[in-house]
Parts: sequence; C-alpha cells; structure tokens
Amino acid sequence: SFITKLILVTGGNKGIGYAIVRNLALSYANLSSSQPLTILLTARDPILGQDSTDKLYEELKPRNVLTDDGGNVDLKFLCLDITDEQSIKDVKKVIEKDYGGLDVLINNAAIAFKGDAFDVNVVRTTFATNFYGTLNLINHFYPLIRPNGRIVNVSSSVGGLHIVSKTLGQEFSKEDLDMDGLIELMKRFEDAVEKDTYKQEGWPRQAYGVSKLGLTTMTRILARRADKEGNNLKVFSCCPGWVKTDMAGERAPLTPDQGAKIPVLLALDENIVIQNPNGSFLKDKNSAL
Ligand code: NDP
Repeated sequence: SFITKLILVTGGNKGIGYAIVRNLALSYANLSSSQPLTILLTARDPILGQDSTDKLYEELKPRNVLTDDGGNVDLKFLCLDITDEQSIKDVKKVIEKDYGGLDVLINNAAIAFKGDAFDVNVVRTTFATNFYGTLNLINHFYPLIRPNGRIVNVSSSVGGLHIVSKTLGQEFSKEDLDMDGLIELMKRFEDAVEKDTYKQEGWPRQAYGVSKLGLTTMTRILARRADKEGNNLKVFSCCPGWVKTDMAGERAPLTPDQGAKIPVLLALDENIVIQNPNGSFLKDKNSAL
C-alpha cells in the first residue's frame, strides 16, 4: 500500500548533508519517475532543521520539483540526533507508521574537532557520533530497509588504510572481520590513546581519521552481511572531496553541491551499483582529497 519511495539523510541542516537533500530532489525530479519520492531531511537541532527545510522548500517550489506543484518529490523534516537512542527510536516509529519502510539511508552526520586537541575524550566523543552513532542508527533501521535498498555512508579519504601500520591495516581489511571484531579494533585504539601507547601500536594521532576508517570498514562488513542474506541491499561508503563547509573551512576548493555528487549518485543511479562491488568506497577523481 506504500508506493512512495523514501530516502533519509542525517545532518541535513547544512553543509554537504543539505546539498545532498537539495541535489537528490533536483536529480529525482529530472528522472520524471512516476513513483513519488519523499526525502526526509533530518537534523539534531529542531530549529536549524526546520529552517533549512523551509528554505529548501521555498527554493524548489517554483521549479516543478515538489508534489504540491506537479513534481514527484516530497520534502519533510524530522528531528534526529544519531547519538540519542530515543531520538532514533522515535524516527523509526514515524517511518514504520507513515511510510512502511525505507529505501535509502544516507549517513552524512559527523563531527570533527578543530585544532590540534588530541586525547581519549576527543577520541570517544568523535567515535560516539561518527562510528557508534552511525552504527547504532544502521542497526535500528536495517530491518526497515526494503528489498533493493541502499545504505550510503559519507566517509573520507583521510580514513584510508594508509593512516595505520601495515599490521593494523591487515586486521582492518581481513575478509572475515565481523562487527564485533571491528568494535574490538576501535576499542583498542581508545585504550592505546588512554595509555599513550598508540604510536608504538601503529595508530595515528587522529580521532577523526580512525573514526572514518572504522566507517569505511563497517561498510564492507554490512555489505558482506547483506550479500549473505540475499536481500539485494547495497552498502557503499564514499568521500565527498574537500568541501567548503563549517567542518572543512574556507580553504576547501569544492562547493557543497559538488561534494554531494557521489552520495547522490550512490543513492539514485542504477549503473553505479552495477559497476561497483557491494561494500565499495567511491570518490571523485577531482575530489581534492
Ligand atoms: P558540517 O560540520 O558542515 O555538517 C555536519 C552535519 O552533521 C551538521 O548538520 C551537524 O549538525 C550534523 N551532526 C553532527 N552531529 C550530529 C548528531 N549527533 N546527530 C545528527 N546530526 C549531527 O560538515 P560537512 O558538511 O563538511 O560534513 C558532512 C560529511 O562529509 C561528514 O560525514 C564529514 O565527515 C564528511 N566529509 C567532509 C569533508 C569536507 O571537506 N567538508 C571531507 C570528507 C568527508 P549541527 O548543525 O547541529 O552541528
């Protein structure tokens, strides 16, 4: 009875997340699909989230994109803090009740400490959002994702295997690494930072980079799980490139719309998922990262 396709984007109030929502709407409108699409722009701050949704709505209104004006896209706001268990459960309930399922989950929300601060609290706080928050959201929403659905994780090239020692790199890339094994690796980094032995153990002085290495690795583990289950769920991670946002600052060369390109392709394009094995990490050749 639910004929509307549903895509949810986290951290949609600004930066790359906002641009992903905007470009999803414009690209889907161009596809002229007869199946309507609802995009859930989510944000942890209700006012910032509602304001940005209203702003985008006003921009799209005269462009025949929205269902209210003869288009095929509906835009809605929901409050979602990915570090808050109750917030995740509340959104899950709304999706079950109003949409019956989810087609694409785009995990864009993340944090990065500015400056040179580095200690176990920086690591724990960064992981709580970028790694554990994203993982917890995926665990809750996984059963909602309909056949042929997708999960798109916005990771980063700065979270490549090159940031850890060869030995650790082999552990992260083991073909049979499961989620418990990955969590054990992430905890090992936290412990090593706490004991100040991380350098000897082959870890970098980077909370954000390791959180993204965890996210990219998590993506491959989820893809292997999905392939085993045979539900045709595709899970990808990507790097948006070095994009001018509050996180990356003024020096970054790309616009948020340019940064949204790969995540939007991974959400909508049919060929990109045929051309890239499940679990792949994608980046644009002009990403400047
Ligand atoms: P911004 O800091 O501009 O935006 C981050 C977004 O995430 C904001 O909407 C923020 O909300 C939201 N957020 C943070 N914590 C939570 C939470 N607990 N729950 C829900 N939302 C949350 O960053 P960017 O747009 O630059 O980054 C978007 C993604 O792209 C991130 O995953 C980032 O790591 C990645 N990336 C960015 C690069 C760049 O050059 N900009 C390069 C490589 C990757 P709020 O406004 O309330 O803080």
